[in-house]
Amino acid sequence: MALIVHKYGGTSMGSTERIQNVAKRVAKWAKAGHQMVVVPSAMSGETNRLLGLAKELAGNAHSDAHLRELDALAATGEQASSALLAIALQAEGIPAVSYAGWQVPIRTNSAFTKARIESIDDQRVRADLSAGKVVIITGFQGVDPEGHVTTLGRGGSDTSAVAVAAAMKAAECLIYTDVDGVYTTDPRVVPEARRLHTVSFEEMLEMASLGSKVLQIRSVEFAGKYKVPLRVLSSFTPWDIDINEEAKSGTLITFEEDEQMEQAIVSGIAFTRDEAKISVIGVPDKPGIAHKILGTVADANIEVDMIIQNISKGGLTDFSFTVNRNDHARAMDLLKTKVLPELGAPEVLGDAKICKVSIVGIGMRSHVGVASKMFACLSAEGINIQMISTSEIKTSVVIDEKYLELAVRALHKAFDLEQNQA
Ligand code: ADP
Ligand code: ASP
Ligand code: MG
Repeated sequence: MALIVHKYGGTSMGSTERIQNVAKRVAKWAKAGHQMVVVPSAMSGETNRLLGLAKELAGNAHSDAHLRELDALAATGEQASSALLAIALQAEGIPAVSYAGWQVPIRTNSAFTKARIESIDDQRVRADLSAGKVVIITGFQGVDPEGHVTTLGRGGSDTSAVAVAAAMKAAECLIYTDVDGVYTTDPRVVPEARRLHTVSFEEMLEMASLGSKVLQIRSVEFAGKYKVPLRVLSSFTPWDIDINEEAKSGTLITFEEDEQMEQAIVSGIAFTRDEAKISVIGVPDKPGIAHKILGTVADANIEVDMIIQNISKGGLTDFSFTVNRNDHARAMDLLKTKVLPELGAPEVLGDAKICKVSIVGIGMRSHVGVASKMFACLSAEGINIQMISTSEIKTSVVIDEKYLELAVRALHKAFDLEQNQA
């Protein structure tokens, strides 16, 4: 008998029929003798629907007071799906109880809409498990020190599940989703993408941070920090498949590099449309410029990703960087009103129609020429690279958004990632 955490994403919880299916699957695990904690997402589309309603009413609000209400609103999606799952389990004859984040409690900081989990009190959950109940804990949410409901950022239920698994020292955390594992790239963009049986923690961390939304990055960070055994698998297999077969399906995130692991130089391709580019043109090339521009942006709590400063011509230079697309308008505004007048820089240009495409693989450490193969492939497709950034195990480029699919498909082929390889 083991303590197991299951997480079910929005599509897996997308209708009463699907919730019933989840209940039958969880009941199968409980009947096999496991102590079960289940972390569901809101039913698919619900978080978007709620946030859409808020947008209709909000105008240009950015205040903390506004963000607080967004979290109070968005958290209701998971509360509903959790209670529905408890009801469905009870209908299967399985004692079950659902808790909202604040009832556990899952304690977070006060960064509304992107709160971080600080601690989880497991007493109440343990008591229920000992009494033979399945415990359902809402994904995506917690409570701050003042008792305000917080949410963990989009896709945050993955993080809730892994954090609960870490706090309770679960034997395994199983992330059930609408694909049957982690693929070499998003299988919805490249149908030839191949499922990985295992993926190293480091590669998964890079893929998640570079845009593969199959796992939220913080969930991977938690798994690494607390060594939580983590598996991504399908919720769409028949609920009554053999439990041992199910437990071995999907993709396992591994923490050790062993010989068994797939040793490709490039293991996967990640991409994101979530970024936007800002260029400040004609900046005087003198000390303190980067600090003036980026410091102002950072003070407004806007994260900067890639940065490029061109060589100067006639004492002037151009300075470009990328930010999250949601922060683009705010960052442009700040630069125009606060920075340009002081710098005497003539112009700031914004481009939200960009995307970032990245190749990831721990094999890149020991191979030279991987990045240049990437550039050659993009050039053969006539795709212009606007920015580049590299680390030991990844190379990322910023390109025009309209070439996203073309770039990902071409790179997938160039690095031999298709199904019939390996
Ligand atoms: P859930 O609602 O279960 O959390 P998400 O939509 O957040 O599901 O994440 C699953 C989706 O992630 C898949 O449907 C797939 O389109 C996308 N995805 C992106 N990159 C990958 C990848 N490398 N492997 C598998 N899925 C990926
Ligand atoms: N419901 C939240 C979202 O849509 C959290 C999640 O699904 O993980 O972002
Ligand atoms: Mg998700």
